[in-house]
Amino acid sequence: MSRRRQIYEGKAKILYEGPEPGTLIQYFKDDATAFNAQKRGSIAGKGVLNNRISEHIFTLLGQIGVPTHFLRRLNMREQLIRQVEIIPIEVVVRNVAAGTLSKRLGIEEGTQLPRTIIEYYYKDDALGDPLIADEHIAAFGWASQDEMNDMADMAIRVNDFLSGLFAGIGIRLIDFKLEFGRIWENEYARVILADEISPDGCRLWDMATNEKLDKDRFRRDLGGEAEAYQEVARRLGLMPEGEASSVLDLDTHRKKRGK
Ligand code: UDP
Repeated sequence: MSRRRQIYEGKAKILYEGPEPGTLIQYFKDDATAFNAQKRGSIAGKGVLNNRISEHIFTLLGQIGVPTHFLRRLNMREQLIRQVEIIPIEVVVRNVAAGTLSKRLGIEEGTQLPRTIIEYYYKDDALGDPLIADEHIAAFGWASQDEMNDMADMAIRVNDFLSGLFAGIGIRLIDFKLEFGRIWENEYARVILADEISPDGCRLWDMATNEKLDKDRFRRDLGGEAEAYQEVARRLGLMPEGEASSVLDLDTHRKKRGK
């Protein structure tokens, strides 16, 4: 695996050169970070689950006409993706107050927002991914006005689709983060959905109990992170009863054998 040329290593994923020009391999690690990487740890089997969950969601989004970088899953931890030029903006969509919105504006976590809010953060670890306004994006040329419109339109479509998908399995989609990238076709750039959609970048609460089924379990030391991610995968129908743990076991065995 590591014989391939590594292009980039992030906090939760590694990107390798793909088999054809314009493709990359996205490898999902078990590493978890929070609070701008000040808190570090690992969630056993997270990479396997996020690979599978993200594959499922990107496939469904593709089927409703949202363009994504996803091509196909290769194995338990890897997927083949289109190479894009990442737009240095994190697009956060919020339906319910939580996290930094609650902190910043003093709105109690769990408060339904009067309307869906889209926020933009500048992707820069050294600066701690600061909240920015459209004006900053335009002024510094991080994305064009057309690209901003495309990203906002896609974010709303993704939110509507995912809110329904999760509601159908008893989960409230509180908020989530998206990243987009450009692909070049005959000198024209087109924006497509990139990165991943998984419990790492979403807040997912059980509708009946408000139990957190996402990375907040790690951020807030609640425990049961792996079980929460497994529960999301199970409800999405990705793991027949009893299979979730065996898949993870298998993966652990492989790692022990050094494969
Ligand atoms: N998020 C993310 N990566 C980031 C920041 C936020 O995936 O670098 C996601 C986070 O999981 C949550 C949503 O975006 O679903 C809103 O996050 P928030 O601004 O509340 O910040 P956080 O509490 O995650 O630091």
